[in-house]
Amino acid sequence: MSITELDKQYVANTYNRFPVEFTHGKGSVLYGTDGKKYIDMGAGIGVTSLGICDDGWVKAVTEQVMKLQHTSNLYYTEPCALLAEELCKRTGFKKVFFSNSGAEANECAIKVARKYAAQVKGSDYSTVVTLNNSFHGRTLTTLAATGQPKFHEDFQPLTPGFVHATAESIYELEAIAAKYKVAAFMIECIQGEGGVVPLDYDYVHELFSFAGYHKILTIVDEVQTGNGRTGKMYSYMNYGLTPDIVSTAKGLAGGLPLGATMMSEKVQNVLGYGDHGSTFGGNPVCCAAANYVLSQIDDKLLSEVTEKGEIIKKELTGAKGIVKVVGLGLMVGIITERNVSDVVNDCLKKGVLCLTAHDKVRLLPALNIPKDLLYEALAVIKEACAEE
Ligand SMILES: *Cc1c(COP(=O)(O)O)cnc(C)c1O
Repeated sequence: MSITELDKQYVANTYNRFPVEFTHGKGSVLYGTDGKKYIDMGAGIGVTSLGICDDGWVKAVTEQVMKLQHTSNLYYTEPCALLAEELCKRTGFKKVFFSNSGAEANECAIKVARKYAAQVKGSDYSTVVTLNNSFHGRTLTTLAATGQPKFHEDFQPLTPGFVHATAESIYELEAIAAKYKVAAFMIECIQGEGGVVPLDYDYVHELFSFAGYHKILTIVDEVQTGNGRTGKMYSYMNYGLTPDIVSTAKGLAGGLPLGATMMSEKVQNVLGYGDHGSTFGGNPVCCAAANYVLSQIDDKLLSEVTEKGEIIKKELTGAKGIVKVVGLGLMVGIITERNVSDVVNDCLKKGVLCLTAHDKVRLLPALNIPKDLLYEALAVIKEACAEE
């Protein structure tokens, strides 16, 4: 049987995969069993932040693999401690909890918020308010947080204590806070799976000041937007915000599973011994990978991310069949006249990998994608969008 046939027979039917089998790659290029080369404008959904098998990343990972691959969290290891220090130094957060995915990073954020609210305001202050159209993960709790009913349908009952608001008027949040006992607001500054939707600057600031006034914690889900994706280390920095808790994952370790929940001074000691844990979380190999990724995300790389984002907007805006280009840095959404899956399928046939998010074509290329490949991919995307 072919790889595709084996997969179709034995892997659960949760993914509607594209008809391509990848074997290897380098940087922003992937190679398939069809002998073709593909330019990667999706980076494994914003995960391979330095591209495929970046030399320095491979070295950092292999050196760690050959020294020590796992200890459990019963012991101290250097990569984990150094990574926590680096994340705190870059953000001002005081403590980090490591897990293995975005959903788990959010689960931890929610646990911290509920325990804090219980201590400070009372154990009935457990409601977490998230936004319509948000995406926070696939566990039963983070599904409850996700403000898209289509994901909820077959899996009731979900974890109680989540209320969704529309990211339009602060009055709705005020009404919710009057009706429910709210522990935290949780937002993505740019909704990713919801269709690359940046939240309104004033709305986010009103939300934060309302939260501050009512002792409601603010959680920013930076799973997709974090680690340089938007041209800043974290997307909340574009908004000049100071969240109480930030979760991240996807691009953090450049292709190995790692989630992180960062806690501000206010909540740094909320979790005590035994309150939370993860067998794999903070694994030395994943942390060594993340330490290398962070070492590469400097001001120069971040300004290149911004510059390449501008190039994408400039090249695509006004092109035939393209209605609008939105997003920040290398997190881009394209509204097309054609059906988005037709565009993405045509791009695939022409050797360019793109993503979709709701009604948009979504681009999340590696932060270090070379400009020549970027222009090459944009030409293909334009061609696909221009078709009737
Ligand atoms: C992808 C994503 C998640 C879930 O991350 P997993 O690693 O798949 O659990 C959560 N929040 C946001 C904003 C995401 O983009």
